[in-house]
Amino acid sequence: MSGFQFTFLGTGTSVGVPMIGCGCETCVSTDSRDQRLRCSVLIETAELRLLVDAGPDLRQQCLRTGITSLDGVLITHPHADHVMGFDDLRRFTPGRDDTLRVFARASCFTALEKMFFYMFNGANRYPGYFKPDPCVLGDILEISGLEVVPIAVEHGNVECVGFLFRQAGRSILAYLPDCKRISDAGMEALSGVECLVIDALRGRAHPTHMSIDEAVAISAEICPGTTWLTHLSHEVLHAREQQALPNGVNIAYDGLKLSL
Ligand SMILES: [Zn+2]
Ligand SMILES: [Zn+2]
Ligand SMILES: [Zn+2]
Repeated sequence: MSGFQFTFLGTGTSVGVPMIGCGCETCVSTDSRDQRLRCSVLIETAELRLLVDAGPDLRQQCLRTGITSLDGVLITHPHADHVMGFDDLRRFTPGRDDTLRVFARASCFTALEKMFFYMFNGANRYPGYFKPDPCVLGDILEISGLEVVPIAVEHGNVECVGFLFRQAGRSILAYLPDCKRISDAGMEALSGVECLVIDALRGRAHPTHMSIDEAVAISAEICPGTTWLTHLSHEVLHAREQQALPNGVNIAYDGLKLSL
């Protein structure tokens, strides 16, 4: 096994694809790459297994990928499509004294404490309940030899981050599933990254997400070896959009595993 593995557990936008009540060509497509659960990824190194985001499809994603243990969860921002599976993390803290580290910005914990008050008020200690160990994200996090750098991004009115993963002097991969613009400091930190995974909602512009053209332009600026587009809406038909992309830029799909 190589030192860093990255699995797309979900690559869909907030409503998922197919979308309820839609009969468009993507929503009825028989290409499995057009079926997208809500965005989440799994990061594995020799020492570590980390989840990024815990959306409403978390249970299904864990079952189909065979995830039976975790060392921590990173949260990008508290939009429903990234946190509504939070309670399903209970299977990773089965014992009365078990906890699981959750890494997020302070403003994200404020939102999580409102949504899931019973987890944070000290009354939720029974075996089988989810018992988070809240760890407020600062500048750089180091866990078992993996450096995780939060990258500030603009995404509507909510504080939102992407994550850059560095290991043994390599800037391996950046994951920015929800973003309209990347901060200057973020762009600087991303220089030299080997692989970029970035928001590309659809062809048309959107106020809080990058379009495919915007994602391709930012990829040309950062110049990683490979770029994968994610957080895709039903307007993205995999086979058609993939053809139109420049070399080195690809549409991601659920279940895709990268060994870097
Ligand atoms: Zn999202
Ligand atoms: Zn559709
Ligand atoms: Zn969002």
